[in-house]
Amino acid sequence: MNKNVKIAVAGGKGGTGKTLVATNLFYVIKEEGKEVELIDCDAEEPNAGLFFNGNLIYHSDVMLKVPEINTSLCVYCGKCKEYCNYNAILMIGFSKYIKVIEELCHGCGACSIACDYSAITKKNRKIGEVNQYQVQDKALLTEARMQVGVYSPVNTVKTALKQNPHPYVQIIDAPPGTSCPFIHSVVHADYVVLVTEPTPFGLSDLKQSIETLKGMKKFYGVVINRVDEPNQEMMQYLQKENIKVLAQIPFDRDIATVYAQGGLIAQHLSAYKKVFTGLLDLIIQEICK
Ligand code: SF4
Ligand code: SF4
Repeated sequence: MNKNVKIAVAGGKGGTGKTLVATNLFYVIKEEGKEVELIDCDAEEPNAGLFFNGNLIYHSDVMLKVPEINTSLCVYCGKCKEYCNYNAILMIGFSKYIKVIEELCHGCGACSIACDYSAITKKNRKIGEVNQYQVQDKALLTEARMQVGVYSPVNTVKTALKQNPHPYVQIIDAPPGTSCPFIHSVVHADYVVLVTEPTPFGLSDLKQSIETLKGMKKFYGVVINRVDEPNQEMMQYLQKENIKVLAQIPFDRDIATVYAQGGLIAQHLSAYKKVFTGLLDLIIQEICK
């Protein structure tokens, strides 16, 4: 097997149980004494760290270069505002008022290029941070955390994904949705585990995630979480599309109890340790096919 395996765990909408799957997979690999890193890319609400006690070994702020306008040089021509595709410059010419709305700025630099009066310089703005924790001798947890009010977690996610020592297995807890943050999180994964629920909403999101992954030519399989009774429409869809169901996790009060206490089900409920070691074996088999 390829020594550096990257497994992304994703779920269309939030709350499907992807963090449950990612953290428990991380736990079973860690318990086998193998090198493993969990990268929490759910930068808006990273919570994988709640399940592990680790020592902070690395911290970096993620910065973005945003423009700063020198109003003593500005002639209020409006060219910078015109060049900005993100409506991040507010100008009221007759009042000689100009302001960069930093929350909307993507740091593209177009406004600086546009300005003929050298009125625009750049300054750093913190948009997120990356923290890395040593959880166990060979187990690392890396967390991407964006600042509140920042338009996109992409730069923070990319920085977290770069901050890694390439261990034996990387588990990437991908952000919800199928837009840029999701794509950046799964683009280098060898395999994507899609976590879904057996409901019409779950199926709708699953289809969207699968269409995105097909376009990216990724290998993927599905974990169905909170299974009370199977959703026939979902099972028929998966069968028709020839998509592997890697595991089904039942709707179980014990899981909710352990999870609500910040515990790992693979640690506290022996039956589920087998579920996650089995899931890992299946994923490795799929990658090695
Ligand atoms: S392009 Fe330069 S001079 Fe014109 S409004 Fe913008 S900052 Fe001012
Ligand atoms: S750097 Fe780009 S996004 Fe930001 S204000 Fe300038 S043109 Fe707009």
